[in-house]
Amino acid sequence: MNKAIIFEPNKFFKQLKKNVFSFGVILLVLLAIGGSYSFTQKAKKPKVKKVIFIIGDGMGLAQISGAMSESTDRNAFERFKVIGMSKTSSADNYVTDSGAGATVFAIGKKTFNYGISVGTDSLPYPSLFEMMKKKNMATGVVVTSSITHATPACFYAHVSSRKSEDDIAEFLLKGNCDIAIGGGTKFITDRKDKKNLTELLQLNGFIVKTDTTNNFEPFSGNKQVYTLAYDGMKRKLDGRNDFLKLASMHAISQLNNNKNGYMLMIEGSQVDWGGHANDYQYMKTELYDLNQTINAVLDYAEKQGDVLVVVTADHETGGLSLHPNKDDKKQFTANYSTSGHSGIMVPVFAFGPGAELFGGIYENTQIHYNFKQLLGLE
Ligand code: MG
Ligand code: ZN
Repeated sequence: MNKAIIFEPNKFFKQLKKNVFSFGVILLVLLAIGGSYSFTQKAKKPKVKKVIFIIGDGMGLAQISGAMSESTDRNAFERFKVIGMSKTSSADNYVTDSGAGATVFAIGKKTFNYGISVGTDSLPYPSLFEMMKKKNMATGVVVTSSITHATPACFYAHVSSRKSEDDIAEFLLKGNCDIAIGGGTKFITDRKDKKNLTELLQLNGFIVKTDTTNNFEPFSGNKQVYTLAYDGMKRKLDGRNDFLKLASMHAISQLNNNKNGYMLMIEGSQVDWGGHANDYQYMKTELYDLNQTINAVLDYAEKQGDVLVVVTADHETGGLSLHPNKDDKKQFTANYSTSGHSGIMVPVFAFGPGAELFGGIYENTQIHYNFKQLLGLE
């Protein structure tokens, strides 16, 4: 029998259909592999996995120049080789507030003053911390204000007014901020709605400690909410001791347990408060406190080699200038021009992998995009 010349239409088309089908399947598989390949190509590999972001609220060049010229401590700011300038205007004001000022760091969008990580449409936009949690990275804030104050709030909450600190505290339940240390006990335990936030946080896996002692006693835990003061922390002048440095280094040691990486936001919140009070001594001692913390962080980062440290401000406070001192020409007189904020550019200091991105003059939103790019976030 000669197989070759027998044409069986049914068999032929069946075979053809089968071949077309397998060809289709192969094509789909190839497309899928190609697609996922180009997708992984697009999702940038993180250059940096560990970020310590330090904000001196209200810390402009006059604050740094004045305070550090009188300090006997090592000047931490002079340890940075990469320096930039950030333009701080908000969406509706040349002179920003701390809500709009930290919103840009967290979500990369300018918003109206008092907004907390919402756009000008009052809608929430994804923050760095939220993007990082999707990649199972660790996040935290350590501040000398309440943990629900405008600056830290922007990193884990979305509300249209910074004044809603009770509401901001509830955002901690969402788990986008693993470690929160600072003041603000009243927003956890003495709330207007009488909710027991301690219990709710514990149900969400947090170790919670709330007191009003201002006395930092570290405890271990990858998820912790620790408030040490009823509202803001004590002033350094009134005996806050080394809380900021100790709590920051402790938070770093806890966040570092996460092998996927972390971001810790440390805020010298009260540099701003000294400015509002036009109280140079208050401002100066808060800046010394921050300087000491930055030195400790840089010592650590130098040893580790894989930690990006960025220090900046959300805005300047007080319109501070250093005028000639009539009695002693080698001294200056600290002169405030407002009890509010000013619209001057603020410095950005960067150290470690990816630091070079922070050189130059740019809008404050750029700081968000630099972090996003370096951490490989989408
Ligand atoms: Mg602040
Ligand atoms: Zn302020």
